[in-house]
Amino acid sequence: MVNQKGKVWRSTGSWYEVHTESGTTIRCRLKGKFKIKGLKVTNPLAVGDDVIFDLEMGEGEKDLGIIKEILPRKNYIIRKSVHKTAHGHLIASNLDQAIMVVTLTYPKTSMGFIDRFLVSAEAYSIPAILLFNKMDLLDEASLEYQEEIMDMYRQIGYTCYSISALRGDNIDIVKKLIEGKISLFSGHSGVGKSALINTLIPDLDLATSEISDFANKGVHTTTFAEMFESEPGTFIIDSPGIKELGLMEMESQEISHYFPEMSALLGQCKFNNCEHTNEPKCSIKDAVEAGKISDSRYISYLSMLEDDDNRR
Ligand code: GDP
Ligand code: ZN
Repeated sequence: MVNQKGKVWRSTGSWYEVHTESGTTIRCRLKGKFKIKGLKVTNPLAVGDDVIFDLEMGEGEKDLGIIKEILPRKNYIIRKSVHKTAHGHLIASNLDQAIMVVTLTYPKTSMGFIDRFLVSAEAYSIPAILLFNKMDLLDEASLEYQEEIMDMYRQIGYTCYSISALRGDNIDIVKKLIEGKISLFSGHSGVGKSALINTLIPDLDLATSEISDFANKGVHTTTFAEMFESEPGTFIIDSPGIKELGLMEMESQEISHYFPEMSALLGQCKFNNCEHTNEPKCSIKDAVEAGKISDSRYISYLSMLEDDDNRR
């Protein structure tokens, strides 16, 4: 059969698991070379890609598909290739949103880590959501502190919720947030991302790690992203081992554009090449001073700027 349409749910590098709209799963191979204009990547296909394939009969037991075409991507995320530094590695495509599971304690997710994730999401124009997990472990004072942090992010425009994957708090809200969408889940190991996905898809039974092993890097053996359907039409992409929304190089000048509360003020600095560090009459520093931009966000900005300078 020729020209069937499907979506890539899983990739092992040489095989692609493609799901058709009629609900069948076909193992596919890729035929020929596929290149994305202006983008150097080590892998041509990502989870979430829509493809056209031909069905060829396998050796009796299994059908086999040959992917002939990758349909245009709405968006995609890449991380730096471990092997070839000038190349990126495609992680996932056609995302509706990126969800980061964080915990302010047990373990601590740093504000810098959260902000890097948000900046990447802005750079990719993918809506970002923060889920603060393990609220069952927090006392009143810690919950209040968490509420303040969430308020700060909400004022910038990000959706935030306190949840508990184990106790079930606000899981119905999470279900509403992801309904009918393709959501990428990420997070530091140990925050409960697997536990949350298991709560959303009880049949799945992803392995969760004990607190004692998450300090130990390399707990996760799979590094391939994988897509699951939690409800008909609702998709979750899990990306084990990919903690950040990896991003390719970014110019110093670009970084502030991806802090929404800064980008609104950018035209108002005295110098139009202002880096918002030591320059006089800087609208960003004034806003930090006035408490309109939070200190922690500004510190994250400076640290990203520094990383960028160090790369030069
Ligand atoms: P992952 O590395 O982000 O996938 O984290 P896991 O899902 O493996 O969870 C790490 C540990 O945190 C496990 O021991 C989970 O049982 C625990 N955990 C996950 N979610 C919660 C939660 O909401 N509350 C509590 N108390 N523990 C949780
Ligand atoms: Zn400035």
